[in-house]
Amino acid sequence: MLDGKIVITCACTGAETTKEQNPALPITVEEVVRTAVEAREAGAAILHLHVRKADGSPTQDPGRFKEVIEAVRRKTDIVIEITTGGAVGDTAEERLRPVALLEPEMASLDCGTVNFGNDYIVNTLPVMRDFARTFREHGVRPTLECFDLGHVYASHILIKEGLLEGPYHYGFVFNVPAALPWSPDNLEAMRRAMPGGADFTVMGIGRSSLPAQYGAIAAGGWIRVGFEDNVFYAKGRLAKSNAELVERAARIAREAGLEPATPDDVRNYLKLRG
Ligand code: ZN
Repeated sequence: MLDGKIVITCACTGAETTKEQNPALPITVEEVVRTAVEAREAGAAILHLHVRKADGSPTQDPGRFKEVIEAVRRKTDIVIEITTGGAVGDTAEERLRPVALLEPEMASLDCGTVNFGNDYIVNTLPVMRDFARTFREHGVRPTLECFDLGHVYASHILIKEGLLEGPYHYGFVFNVPAALPWSPDNLEAMRRAMPGGADFTVMGIGRSSLPAQYGAIAAGGWIRVGFEDNVFYAKGRLAKSNAELVERAARIAREAGLEPATPDDVRNYLKLRG
């Protein structure tokens, strides 16, 4: 546990969200940099990053990631966590390539196969082993993303095989359509299945975002907000920016007696390469 502090991640863009859903969605390099700076000022310690092509479509192109990461690095010290989930339809090889080439401080590592609305995301155990091995070789700290209880147990196999090293950080994702719904009971089941001493960030998709933040605080977890997960501030009212969502997360955390952790807190605590 990070005593008295809470880590807030801002997932600012994602792969699926569009400007039609929220015109403030950051897509260009300049928009992502501005978002990173604002999110950091509002209390986020980690930026969860997907990148887009000029036409707004998602890409795992390492060149695009490099351009965005370098631009963000010039303006803020926020920890950058890149996605290896990518977009629906990406191959495992495409998803993993930026980790080996760019060696970010953190990256997401999906721990199993899951429905994604009418689509699905495939992560077989051999694929997960390959990812975990690559992360370890390049000193990249994974966020072990679990969309279902079985995914947490799958992570134990990787740990037992020596493919993952602590400190362990999980990302529990709730309310993806046709996957695990948000509820405090489901969070508790996920939490109990983790290895002892691990930390976890709670991600509630869509309307579950806000209750999941309160649930995370109550359960001793960390928070993720941002347009990847949810574009609304309240029912019928779009968020003005990612930072507006981070500001509220920081505010409710402070009301619960927790100070938002800084990027350097996260670097020390999760033993990031820095
Ligand atoms: Zn993502």
